[in-house]
Amino acid sequence: FDMFVLAFVERIFRPTYKKDDFVLGKKLGEGAFGVVYKVSLANKKAKKEEELVLKKATEYGAVEIWMNERVRRACANSCADFKYGFLESSSKKEAEYWLIWRFEGETTLYDLMQSKDFPYNVETMILGKVQDLPKGLERENRIIQTIMRQILFALDGLHSTGIVHRDIKPQNIIFSEGSRTFKIIDLGAAADLRVGINYIPKEFLLDPRYAAPEQYIMSTQTPSAPSAPVAAALSPVLWQMNLPDRFDIYSTGLIFLQMAFPGLRSDSGLIQFNRQLKRCDYDLVAWRKTAEPRASSELRKGFELLDLDGGIGWELLTSMVRYKPRQRISAKTALAYPYFDKEGLLALSVMQ
Ligand code: ADP
Ligand code: MG
Repeated sequence: FDMFVLAFVERIFRPTYKKDDFVLGKKLGEGAFGVVYKVSLANKKAKKEEELVLKKATEYGAVEIWMNERVRRACANSCADFKYGFLESSSKKEAEYWLIWRFEGETTLYDLMQSKDFPYNVETMILGKVQDLPKGLERENRIIQTIMRQILFALDGLHSTGIVHRDIKPQNIIFSEGSRTFKIIDLGAAADLRVGINYIPKEFLLDPRYAAPEQYIMSTQTPSAPSAPVAAALSPVLWQMNLPDRFDIYSTGLIFLQMAFPGLRSDSGLIQFNRQLKRCDYDLVAWRKTAEPRASSELRKGFELLDLDGGIGWELLTSMVRYKPRQRISAKTALAYPYFDKEGLLALSVMQ
């Protein structure tokens, strides 16, 4: 009953939008299932322009709206601030859904990682100033640690809600200028296993560069798409059996790797790494044995960074990038790892 009242009150007080309210700005992205624009909205009451993001999506938009609504109620800080979603038209052959978020900022983790100045550019964004400190591995490690903590924190929120994202990659991690933290975006491929939404994995949605080796996040032996009430009762059990969240952990491990090794930040570098890792049967320790002896100084720098403080970074990385989902740690356990014991970026600035 409470839920019903809440939903009702929200219906009345939440702003609703319609097509004519928006002034289309620049295109931010275009995928197979939708186009994303920056838009502005004249807020007459506040007498200012509100910056928003609009995604015009195909039929998959319905699921994405559902996921965003659920995130907004259960773990709002994990993802970009979702405002509203609606069916704009179904008159044509295909349905078109419109989704609206707050415009969180100009840069994704991908954009930041492409800069030669990474990870110092992130330090500046988080602290709001350039620090007059000598550059070095220790400092880089602290910045990367802070980014990893923020991603894992957001992921833990999603996973605790029962949502697996399935498309975790730097392009889908946005730096929120308001909160000065990284947030997750793009729930277009997400699955909510507690209620069975998007339960049948759409493998074609997955990005092969960041996808874990398992093809299905749920065992193919689990019965397909149970009806919602059945799924709700079963899903904690299915979750325990299959650990579908570990799919996202693998992808996050690859991001960690890319942050530590500049040579793996490009598409070609990552693809080449994936090939090498597959040849090593997805055993990172074996990969290191083959890669390190003939490593460039740049690659060696990555190992050095991960080996700091008795190798706790390397230990965390190897607990995330593993072949078997069961052997990968959860986001919650990762956050309790010794790698995060040392103070992160904010403390670094307080010390100054
Ligand atoms: P898709 O990958 O399906 O095209 P995304 O939801 O990932 O759609 O959005 C595409 C791009 O739009 C993102 O990579 C990001 O640059 C930008 N973007 C998406 N949502 C936001 C937001 N809330 N604030 C700022 N930029 C956003
Ligand atoms: Mg995306």
